[in-house]
Amino acid sequence: MSRKINVTIWNEEDNNQAAYPEGIHTALAAFVKEHEQLGTLRTATLSQPEHGLSHDVLNDTDVLLWWGHIYHHKVSDEIVDRVRDRVIQGMGLIVLHSGHAAKIFSKLLGTHTWKLRWREANERERVWVIDHNHPIAKGLDEYIEIPQSETYGEYFNIPKPDELIFISWYEGGEVFRSGCTFNRGSGKIFYFAPGHEGFRIYDMPEIQRIIKNGISWAAPVGYPKISADHHPKSPEAMYKEAHNL
Ligand code: ZN
Repeated sequence: MSRKINVTIWNEEDNNQAAYPEGIHTALAAFVKEHEQLGTLRTATLSQPEHGLSHDVLNDTDVLLWWGHIYHHKVSDEIVDRVRDRVIQGMGLIVLHSGHAAKIFSKLLGTHTWKLRWREANERERVWVIDHNHPIAKGLDEYIEIPQSETYGEYFNIPKPDELIFISWYEGGEVFRSGCTFNRGSGKIFYFAPGHEGFRIYDMPEIQRIIKNGISWAAPVGYPKISADHHPKSPEAMYKEAHNL
């Protein structure tokens, strides 16, 4: 548990994050900084050079959080490719709320992830925990009640998730796969839907717990060195050589 996790929080930092005058990245950083394994915590935004995601920053990031909404198209393809490559190498990625439509998410998943049913009706959302043994659900009750939320609904155009942890029900009758995970290369991806810009959902302790659990889960676990290239000698031949057989 002593291993440190370096976290970078990315936000497009638009001027439309009504409930978060300080910017959603700042609101997220305010509780992520309490993570017991935290190493370096950075924030990065669209308007910075290289969107704040230089090679140096990404190479020193274990888990990247991504919040975007109306400026997905302004994210340069070069940076998207750079983030994709880091995920495949093992960097964890947590995609939040409307980040489902981010270029990086659809690129890694390979589908039109921006397609889902949605309404802004300020209705209640009930987030059901359907995988109580998953580390991201650690410490939660059966469900979380969000008094007012943006309504998302199926069909959500993602590939079948590797793990489904949360399903949300909304007052209007929609349901939505609101918490799911994917593996891409050596990297782990967690998508978590609650977090609309109009309500301070990120102030809720249960939501903070999920995101902090997500950081612990998505951090690289230290895979064996990958040797996906040409190996003229078989493992058995190397064994025999080592044991003089
Ligand atoms: Zn929203």
